[in-house]
Amino acid sequence: MKPNRNLPFSAVELDNGFWHDRQELNRNVTIRNVWKRFEETGRFASFRFDWKEGMPHKPHIFYDSDVAKWMESAAYILQMHPDPWLEERMEELVGLIVAHQQEDGYFNVYFTVVEPENRFRQRFAHELYCAGHLIEAAVAYQNATGRDRFLRAMCRYADCIARVFMEEQAPPFATPGHEEIELALVKLYRCTGEERYLRLARWFLDQRGNNDKDPACMGEWENPRYTQSHLPVRRQFTAEGHAVRAGYLYSAMADVAYETGDPELRTACQSLFENITERRMYITGGMGSSRTGEAFTKDFDLPNATAYTETCAAISLILFAQRMLLLDIDGRYADVVERALYNGFLSGLSLDGRSFFYENPLEIDLDRYGRDTSIKGGEVLPIPQRVEVFECSCCPPNVTRLIASVGEYLATYDDHTVFIHQYMSGTARWQIGNQAVTLRQETRYPADGHIRLTIEGARGMKAALRIPGWCRRYTLLCGGQPVQAAPEKGYVAVNCLGDMVTLELELDMSPVLLEADPRIHADAGRAALQRGPVVYCVEGADHEGAVHDLLVDGWLKARTEELPGMPLPVVRAAGWRRPRPEPGCPYRPLRENLQPLELTYIPYFAFANRGESDMLVWVPVRR
Ligand code: ZN
Repeated sequence: MKPNRNLPFSAVELDNGFWHDRQELNRNVTIRNVWKRFEETGRFASFRFDWKEGMPHKPHIFYDSDVAKWMESAAYILQMHPDPWLEERMEELVGLIVAHQQEDGYFNVYFTVVEPENRFRQRFAHELYCAGHLIEAAVAYQNATGRDRFLRAMCRYADCIARVFMEEQAPPFATPGHEEIELALVKLYRCTGEERYLRLARWFLDQRGNNDKDPACMGEWENPRYTQSHLPVRRQFTAEGHAVRAGYLYSAMADVAYETGDPELRTACQSLFENITERRMYITGGMGSSRTGEAFTKDFDLPNATAYTETCAAISLILFAQRMLLLDIDGRYADVVERALYNGFLSGLSLDGRSFFYENPLEIDLDRYGRDTSIKGGEVLPIPQRVEVFECSCCPPNVTRLIASVGEYLATYDDHTVFIHQYMSGTARWQIGNQAVTLRQETRYPADGHIRLTIEGARGMKAALRIPGWCRRYTLLCGGQPVQAAPEKGYVAVNCLGDMVTLELELDMSPVLLEADPRIHADAGRAALQRGPVVYCVEGADHEGAVHDLLVDGWLKARTEELPGMPLPVVRAAGWRRPRPEPGCPYRPLRENLQPLELTYIPYFAFANRGESDMLVWVPVRR
């Protein structure tokens, strides 16, 4: 029983507006720049399989995954826009992959060129993680071009993995040290219809935390929580360990629950989702608060300046939340997709589309931490400026593939209802049974909250519009008449009585100050400003460098304003600056002579685009 189906991104043309701009930048600048950086660092060259000791650019164990995610991104772009340069690069790479695949289907650069004797011997060598990304790329390329030689090659590799791991159980470990292949195998199953790939995905899930071999293979990562191997997955109810690994695992669990109806997996996913989003997630949708192990720590332990919150972790939360939405239409899942998308994910990319954050802190204090990332008192701090490539460069091609396929988050549907989850300007065209449905959204969202929707070809069906969890006031008109129905689980449903239905949704986007759960001690006495789905921050560039001197007025008096170079309006809000004392003792009686000041809030995702600067999301508040 599949109650709810995904609308593929390829059905969605984002032809203007916020996401259109990001997609244009992605295909014109970002994908090309990532290619250049990967070319310079030898990642693509490694696919020629000709590296020898003494040559530069020794292949790394995760190079396959970097290249594969770049390929997956390129395939998504190609599916929507012909691009001879991208296609040529793809054909070249696919040619190299096919040429260097081994007889038995195995494919891995590092373990063919550098350590062939150690193939499938090391749980932490990322082989199956790389395989998963290659499989995802192959599925994407097949969908984009209809050419199947990459897909056929990856089916052979998946068959090799099934033989070695499931049938022969030859390797000294049962499950990969970095999840990813599980969700990729579900994609391969959906693309080919071959049940054996779904079986293999489920097998890997069933082995995790259940197979005696794995603890012995922990190596330097002795805590089995790091890889979510501390319990069988059906008994995992709190998010543990490395956050990206966790997000990919939970996504695969939700996928298999969706495909098989497995109730235990579903229950575990619901608990994991609640644990993350109610206790272990930043206001930005970032997760994984600790650099140590790039991991979850404890409930409500969400420090701001040291927030690790890897860009890939925000992406994995988006993947997981969207899969939960397929299992159960509930606005809180789409709310989390939106929160992560506009904040902790988008902050990973610079406004010019060229550079990336791996970590996305919620506070930068240049004075305290210095301008480098050297260890201070045992703490390594996030870098204050984005860079074009990292040694461990998982995030950049993960950003490009998500932006290229962001239309996928727009809507889902069943036989009776079209559920509209995200508001993005563009047109979706697809088939429900024998009805050709067109859904058009005209909006500047999230610059403002006005959304005009036109639905054609859905006569007799319902359109269910998500009223975001952040929204306290809205109006909805259907054919000019107010719709009175209250939202149910976050959605207002409207009957489509005609061949063409026009809806006008107005979401109140007034800025609000939010406080955190008192158990999040890092945010005590502070407030964060949010406008619509977008979290804002204050940056030194607008406050003479000194954001830590600021207080915001808790009786928020705010106005919005367009600022050149900012993709969304900035918010000016009343507040004060605390005067700095005369030289001498830094402590003094609490003073009242605060200097009134208008604070400038910019979208959090746009921070660190105007040079190095202090930054704060949670600003001390005074009434
Ligand atoms: Zn990453």
